[in-house]
Amino acid sequence: MAVNKAELSKGTLVSLENQRDERRFQREREEKLSRVVEYAAENSPFYRKKLAEAGINPVKIKTLLDLPDLPFTTKEELRQAYPLKAQAAPDVEVVRVHSSSGTTGKPIIIPYTQYDVDTWAEMMARCLKMTGVNRLDRVQVTPGYGLWTAGIGFQAGVERLGAITIPTGPGNTEKQLEMMSDLGTSVLIGTSSYGLLLAEECSKRGIMDHLRLRIGVFGSERWGERMRARIEEIFAIDTFDIYGLTEIYGPGIAIDCPYHHGLHYWDDHLIFEVIDPATGKPVPDGIQGELVITTLTKQGMPLLRYRTRDLTRIITEPCPCGSPYPQIDRIFARTDDMIKIHGVNIYPGQIEHVLEITPGLSSEYEITITRKEGRDSLTIKVESQQSSGEWTDLEQSFARNIKTKIGISASCEVIGIGALKRSEKKTKRVYDLRESQL
Ligand code: ZN
Repeated sequence: MAVNKAELSKGTLVSLENQRDERRFQREREEKLSRVVEYAAENSPFYRKKLAEAGINPVKIKTLLDLPDLPFTTKEELRQAYPLKAQAAPDVEVVRVHSSSGTTGKPIIIPYTQYDVDTWAEMMARCLKMTGVNRLDRVQVTPGYGLWTAGIGFQAGVERLGAITIPTGPGNTEKQLEMMSDLGTSVLIGTSSYGLLLAEECSKRGIMDHLRLRIGVFGSERWGERMRARIEEIFAIDTFDIYGLTEIYGPGIAIDCPYHHGLHYWDDHLIFEVIDPATGKPVPDGIQGELVITTLTKQGMPLLRYRTRDLTRIITEPCPCGSPYPQIDRIFARTDDMIKIHGVNIYPGQIEHVLEITPGLSSEYEITITRKEGRDSLTIKVESQQSSGEWTDLEQSFARNIKTKIGISASCEVIGIGALKRSEKKTKRVYDLRESQL
């Protein structure tokens, strides 16, 4: 089949085609903001009550400067709105629901109109296009299908772009490898944990030569640079960090471009703000804080200033790719992941950072916290490719770096590659055994 060049370049990096008149764009964005606030106040029982209680007159929200006047929306409030009190579109227009995982308490049910489903597919297609996926690619979608948003969200984006979906869904590694090698999968989508598991498995079985993989798109859990480097090295591919959350469409609202300077997000559909999680006050651009998202065009369940609990920062430097879509940094941590140890608040991401600056350590680690005689004790197991004769030195330098960088003492244990359990979903890295010992 003859393929002309123009056809191929459709999937390559967006740049000039996306140039926009910034003044006009921001004016339209503010119009969308003012419309969505009025729409939510009129149509969502949840927001009608919430905005009335906060004394907000929706017509007064006209510009981005008015945004901080709106109250935040929290996950807990949406749980209390179970199942559909936050729905704004009439049933006749709703075509689908999804649900958050609900691991703690009631899940959040998210209704979508056809327009929402289309918008989501469009954003996902943009994400894939940004990574360089084109219509000739074969894209293996390993996240789950069903109430969970990931699988179907990716599939819709792949189809919108015109590439081929291989909808394997999660698990069944044998089948995954068979499809990858027999169908010549060129793009792999999943959690980074599963990406690593598949990479190690392919390497172990010596089937790398049968693969045609060139791009990996991973999301749904935070993953560090070491892990990224390891997956890229084993598979010899470029990888991309895709961001999203069930409450706001699902995955596909932000992704990094081939320059990997940060994650571009779709500001024609969303407003991203970063706030100080303790005070709720906006922080200056470039400073780390909690990401807060407002949907501008969502009909089924619009969200105003939704607190994501994800910590990041707005990147102010323009990206060399030329895309006009602004960027946030990779997610540093979730506020829920904070561990208090010896009275110091730490995030697993900080330990991961120390691991990255300590030569000789690999990507996989496990943190265990115990309490003995009233004292917290932190043990970190970490994998290394080095020979076991070097492990004692590595343990010492890792512990020293943890002390200098984070200010806490930890006992470090170096183990061989593959010693820690691999996951087909998200890797559990922190085991806090203190409560069970009380
Ligand atoms: Zn870029």
